[in-house]
Amino acid sequence: MGLTAQCAGMTEKFTGQFTQQEPIPEAAIAAAVQVMQSGRLHRYNTQGDEAGETALLEVEFAAYTGAQYCLAVASGGYAMATALRALGVRPGDKVLTNAFTLAPVPGAIASVGAMPVFVGVTEGLVIDLDDLAAKADQADVLMLSHMRGHICDMRRLMAICNAAGITVIEDCAHTMGASWDGVPSGRWGTFGCYSTQTYKHINSGEGGLLISDDAELMARAVMLSGSYMLFEKHRAAPPPDAFAEIKYQTPNVSGRMDNLRAAILRPQLGDLKTQCDRWNALYHAVEDGLRDVPGLTLIDRPKEEGFVASSIQFLLLDWSASAVEDVLARCKARGVELKWFGGAEPTGFTSRYDSWRYAPSSAMPESDRILAGIIDMRLPLTFSQDDCAVIARIIRDEVSIVYQATSAA
Ligand SMILES: *Cc1c(COP(=O)(O)O)cnc(C)c1O
Repeated sequence: MGLTAQCAGMTEKFTGQFTQQEPIPEAAIAAAVQVMQSGRLHRYNTQGDEAGETALLEVEFAAYTGAQYCLAVASGGYAMATALRALGVRPGDKVLTNAFTLAPVPGAIASVGAMPVFVGVTEGLVIDLDDLAAKADQADVLMLSHMRGHICDMRRLMAICNAAGITVIEDCAHTMGASWDGVPSGRWGTFGCYSTQTYKHINSGEGGLLISDDAELMARAVMLSGSYMLFEKHRAAPPPDAFAEIKYQTPNVSGRMDNLRAAILRPQLGDLKTQCDRWNALYHAVEDGLRDVPGLTLIDRPKEEGFVASSIQFLLLDWSASAVEDVLARCKARGVELKWFGGAEPTGFTSRYDSWRYAPSSAMPESDRILAGIIDMRLPLTFSQDDCAVIARIIRDEVSIVYQATSAA
């Protein structure tokens, strides 16, 4: 990676870019160029029995996850909204979802006129299953966000939801390639939704994927996505007879993926396993460097969780806002960009449930305590393990300095 750490006097500084992705692989660029040369970017603009890149991506992603059906769409948020529409969620309905997540999740719920009901977060950064059980009578659908790749006890979650008649949609924007107890994330619920936006695990700028084993729901999703009467061109969709009635009843809410994005994604899907291992190696390098720092809590990762850590989180639990801000500023001055989920104002990609004012919420003091302590950092694959060691040393120093100053005060 070249010289990413430089010494200015005694102070080590990190000079890498936290938002710098790797280039698109050469095979993907070549495939994209071919699509552009053909001029046939629209997924249904195929000749004879040619499948087209989008249909092939769907086949490959269905095989990758083990799902019966797959639909490629314009974004992860669109995939989630399509799942809600296919399930018949109506304006005014309530939908359970995580308090700790990102704006597109309550946004997808709001986009169909429904109302998010927020469920708390634990110190393990997963949905609070006791809170979910307590709120289970409030909605028929759970939009479960595996936020920052943390996966809850899926057996217990499914038991709660099955007992209460709740349909589960999984938001796997941060868990493509991950699993719980050997079952891929996205395969526990009725639908799994993925994003292929630049900051996720495969990169087409924008894009999304939706998977399910349910023929009727997926036929609706295909129609919703804007398939006109061309659904027979799909290769990972339910058979034509599943569309017999649905094709008359389902509105077209265009949000298709195009062949250019699909061409970029297919080679990346082939590399995904390798990339996931690389992310986890970076994660472990930072995690190892942050052990036994007084005042800093690492997140427990249960043995059932086959995680893909494209980011890392830790807690500064019960720290004052000013002490947290001090740590962020000091790390930033040394080139380490940390995000904080406890800030009073939403900034950048980071906001909290009580800043989504279109979705009224009641206070959740236990969750507020955790959210106030969540520090979050991206781990782009352009970082080396040495970079991660430097980053960890910087965080460790600065957390220790501020912690000692505040506990002395
Ligand atoms: C990115 C993201 C989404 C939505 O993905 P888009 O493709 O940007 O619409 C959904 N959930 C979470 C947690 C995300 O980070």
